Amino acid sequence: MRYFVCRAFHKTVMNSNEMSTQSIANSLAVVLRQASEASQRVGNTIAPRLVAVSKTKPVADLQAAYDAGQRHFGENYVQEIVEKSPELPNDIQWHFIGHLQSNKVKALLEGVPSLSCLETLDSEKLANKLNSMVENLGRDPLSVYVQVNTSGEESKYGVEPGEDCVALCKHVATLCPHLRLAGLMTIGQPDYSSRPENFETLKKCRKEVCQALGQDEQGLELSMGMSGDYVQAIEMGSTNIRVGSTIFGRRS
Ligand SMILES: *Cc1c(COP(=O)(O)O)cnc(C)c1O
Repeated sequence: MRYFVCRAFHKTVMNSNEMSTQSIANSLAVVLRQASEASQRVGNTIAPRLVAVSKTKPVADLQAAYDAGQRHFGENYVQEIVEKSPELPNDIQWHFIGHLQSNKVKALLEGVPSLSCLETLDSEKLANKLNSMVENLGRDPLSVYVQVNTSGEESKYGVEPGEDCVALCKHVATLCPHLRLAGLMTIGQPDYSSRPENFETLKKCRKEVCQALGQDEQGLELSMGMSGDYVQAIEMGSTNIRVGSTIFGRRS
């Protein structure tokens, strides 16, 4: 549950002991270097995309990362992303990475015109709602990642690996013209020993989905790896890592 606990956002902003601009730039550089080294070790020509996960952090911290060159940011709560995004440069590519309820789709899409993708698609109902809202608002197709619950923990959102995952991906690809299936996403388990299995499961899901859709595996991204395991995730084929506390410091 620990990633989904609702926090009093304003309180966090007021009390946050902000990391200095310099230390955010430094941590960002360390993560980028380690990501690029991991990616070279496994012979990738392109380093994975780094999404800086900024939930609960004040806009000054995001601005510091932006000034250091970071452009992809990840947020978990609709109210928070809607409040923060207008205060920051409009070429930021926002990734929504929290659980999204159907009744918040409108607020998210209207409030964040530059939303780049939703990484947490987990039901046909949500897909349908997003698809029609994107159409109504006349937006460009929205990129989505299907979230897969690879660890089987009940507290985690996401579809089951296997048939459920394939079915939702197929639904998006065939019945949701205003959505673009960008990839699969998972949150592994904090327990080190089980992470490789979670990542292997996500890779297997990609294979199944691509077979079912008759599409090339290169065309479907894998969003996996957070502060504790992004190096390992890259070595296992991640194309999109989501790193928060290593860049911005611990969340209070
Ligand atoms: C909070 C969060 C992250 C970042 O976690 P860190 O351990 O701080 O890097 C990544 N992905 C999701 C879905 C999250 O909720």
